[in-house]
Amino acid sequence: MGAARSDRCAHRHGRSAGGAAAPRGRFPAEADPPLLILLIFGSGIRESLLNVVYFVCGYCQVQAPQNVIKRSHRFTLFFLPLFTFSTRYVNQCTNCGAETALTAEQAQHSLTWSAGRR
Ligand SMILES: [Zn+2]
Repeated sequence: MGAARSDRCAHRHGRSAGGAAAPRGRFPAEADPPLLILLIFGSGIRESLLNVVYFVCGYCQVQAPQNVIKRSHRFTLFFLPLFTFSTRYVNQCTNCGAETALTAEQAQHSLTWSAGRR
């Protein structure tokens, strides 16, 4: 008689501890992960040497190789380039390092000019 009553009591205790208290302790309301969206974006510059031409530099007055450089400014997301938003062409003197902005036509012209001389 007495044994049956104590058994029922123990059963109820086990239910309340394992059924309701344990899950609440494992996932407290404050620890709900917030929706965090982290975007790492920026811009990068990619340089490519298009051509090398020889002429007297306007800055140092030395006949030196002039690098025709295509400079692409690219939008990057997570450090991966997505698209190019601006492209510039510059002429860089290898003797003094002076840079002169070129138009796309001038850069293209330097290519056809050097191709004709080969
Ligand atoms: Zn120069």
